[in-house]
Amino acid sequence: MHDYQASAAWAQARDAADPLRHFRDEFLIPPHEDGSGRAVDSVYFCGNSLGLQPRAVREAVNAELDYWGELGVEGHFKGRLPWMDYHEFLRDDLAAIVGAQPGEVVTMNTLGVNLHLMMVSFYRPTPARSAILIEAGAFPTDRYAVESQIRFHGFDPARDLIEIEPDEPNGTLSLAAIEQVLAEHGARTALVMLPGVQYRNGQAFDLAAITALAHRHGCKVGFDLAHAVGNLPLQLHDSGADFAIWCSYKFLNGGPGAIGGAFVHARHANAVLPRFAGWWGHDKATRFQMGPEFIPTAGADGWQLSNPPILALAPLRVSLEVFRRAGMARLREKSVRLTGYLEWLVHTQLNDLLHVVTPEEPERRGAQLSIRVTDGRERGRALFEYLMQHGIIGDWREPDVIRISPVPLYNRFADCLAFAHAVRRWHDASA
Ligand SMILES: *Cc1c(COP(=O)(O)O)cnc(C)c1O
Repeated sequence: MHDYQASAAWAQARDAADPLRHFRDEFLIPPHEDGSGRAVDSVYFCGNSLGLQPRAVREAVNAELDYWGELGVEGHFKGRLPWMDYHEFLRDDLAAIVGAQPGEVVTMNTLGVNLHLMMVSFYRPTPARSAILIEAGAFPTDRYAVESQIRFHGFDPARDLIEIEPDEPNGTLSLAAIEQVLAEHGARTALVMLPGVQYRNGQAFDLAAITALAHRHGCKVGFDLAHAVGNLPLQLHDSGADFAIWCSYKFLNGGPGAIGGAFVHARHANAVLPRFAGWWGHDKATRFQMGPEFIPTAGADGWQLSNPPILALAPLRVSLEVFRRAGMARLREKSVRLTGYLEWLVHTQLNDLLHVVTPEEPERRGAQLSIRVTDGRERGRALFEYLMQHGIIGDWREPDVIRISPVPLYNRFADCLAFAHAVRRWHDASA
């Protein structure tokens, strides 16, 4: 049971008692001009799109620039964190965040690239089994990627791209609907590719249940965790999923266009799988013999193509360290309360104006609430612009959704209350 109250005193008391409150001080909160020329912290609810910058990032990046300046090529072997092994310094923290064995994860490339690389290995269509199953309304990259892979293999997306239609009132998708589509099409489906958290409506999926279902039908399973990683505690290894991919600039706070990541389940660690290969995926022990034959490193590292970008890894390394200290379990505990508070405020204070489309069960969502304005798109757009002008930063997804994500690392109960007050002020001013 909750003890929520819509008063500033209550919110401030909760924030003061929050054991994670100090983490906010480790982030740069974008300032907002409050109308009287004073710069105040904006209320930043956009960690689902671009997470904030940890203060320690600047020094970490500068350190690598200094090593480059002072050591040149020797920086690969010298310095505090030699570049040759640099991506390994992120491995354990990343594995903890996604619930994987260290050898199952790698930081590399970006989400779209990793999705294609994983599909090269795990989407192996045959005439009898050539379909890919995704959710209707998938993120554009995901849809484009699977469609182009189907065509690349000489199949026809009109037949082989199966999009599961939402069956729940708010446009979300039940496990029963997935089950039903698999009962019908599972035998001709090569790959089930679903999100961890759906980007538009904020629905979280049960990865283990979906994996078990899909495997029962003989399909491979991959997850796009763009909105799940750093948001929900994940148990990727135990889920049994074949692969997963993600970007690191959303809840992981890795910086704009940050380096992405991939998970390959341990049962594929030494499997002979078709893949697009590069020298950084070659067996580490013999990589620099520069031989003509590609021998993959065991595990997720074997999918690397290139010498990784150190200046992109440095911010993410710092950010993952913040997660290690905070701990996903504690972050989730706060996140459930924080997002629950925002939802409670909408239900009790703004019920005449706003409608939350994200599932209300905490286990079916992460930090994000997707909110519609009951009066329609134009009013929704007007509210969104009002909020932005008043330093309350969310984002807009066509056709009519405002996404608001209280992030437990740097958002406060007082931020949620500020949102509710601003919506009410907008309504009163525009009534
Ligand atoms: C953010 C996001 C992407 C972005 O992919 P990039 O390759 O990093 O640009 C892709 N898919 C989903 C579901 C996303 O939320």
